[in-house]
Amino acid sequence: MDQKKYTITTSSWKYNFMIIKKSLILSFMLTPFTILSQDCSEINKKRVTRLQADIITLASNEMEGREPGTNGEIKARDYIISRMQEIGLKPKGTDGFIQAFTYSEGDAAIQAHNVVGFIDNDAEKTVVITAHYDHLGYGGSGSKYKEPSQIHNGADDNASGTAALLELAHLIKNNNIKEHNNFLFIAFSAEEKGLLGSKYYVMNPSLNLNEINYVLNMDMLGRMEPGMALTVEGLGSSLIWESSLKEIECDAFPLTLKKRENGPSDHAPFYEAGIPALHFWTGKHDDYHKPSDDAEKINFRAESQIISFIEALILLIDSKGKVNFHLREK
Ligand SMILES: [Zn+2]
Repeated sequence: MDQKKYTITTSSWKYNFMIIKKSLILSFMLTPFTILSQDCSEINKKRVTRLQADIITLASNEMEGREPGTNGEIKARDYIISRMQEIGLKPKGTDGFIQAFTYSEGDAAIQAHNVVGFIDNDAEKTVVITAHYDHLGYGGSGSKYKEPSQIHNGADDNASGTAALLELAHLIKNNNIKEHNNFLFIAFSAEEKGLLGSKYYVMNPSLNLNEINYVLNMDMLGRMEPGMALTVEGLGSSLIWESSLKEIECDAFPLTLKKRENGPSDHAPFYEAGIPALHFWTGKHDDYHKPSDDAEKINFRAESQIISFIEALILLIDSKGKVNFHLREK
């Protein structure tokens, strides 16, 4: 045996071991942080305060129920833009953060506005996070309330999801992690008119659809009660979802997992376009589509925990590459 060679081999082994050791130490250093950020039971007071501010503002009478084509929609749109700017998102609409589109209602042409912001991590794929911000205005055909018209504030539906979208943007922007994905945040309008904002976006995307890794949609996250489950739908859209969701340790609430990929919210048009998509919600209630869907009925602390759960999912699958689409046999 060549002694010199042996020495070199030994030292290169030593060197490799040092690298392995260093990366082990690094991963130990990172692990507690990852576990902490995945502990969804913990209540983050600052987060609760931000959620309260966003939901109370969006569900205030000043926004008049955020119906597309009204001043209330414009006020809500501009509030979301100002929050996205404050968080530090890049505009990714067609006119800054705005993507305007028109639809007809009877003889009238209504202009509505999606709001689109971006976190660029120089990655190949982009995770799309969505929530609609429009609601029923003063009622109309979508209302379950049969008395004279009143403002439908839509605190749960869907100021709660919009606030969660802004909070996830804040978390991802400020977590000091450069994820392996970019993140696109879309607050849709005209969901209540038949998913018009998300259908329009999928037909007129501001990035190439095949760059999208997967979609997470949030519609009604505000009415968690003790013992209630968080419902996650769309598990049929990829085989990765069920095991990933079950991997997240979270004692705060149980999960109800559903395969249904094309349920009635903004994730459905993405699924139809061949993109894996999940939908999160806390379920229907007596105030659903009524003027009584107000901010004081929101469980902000539970919503904060749900956001931690969604954040944990994003981080868990971040380094796993493209989430493969699965088309369920009918
Ligand atoms: Zn909704």
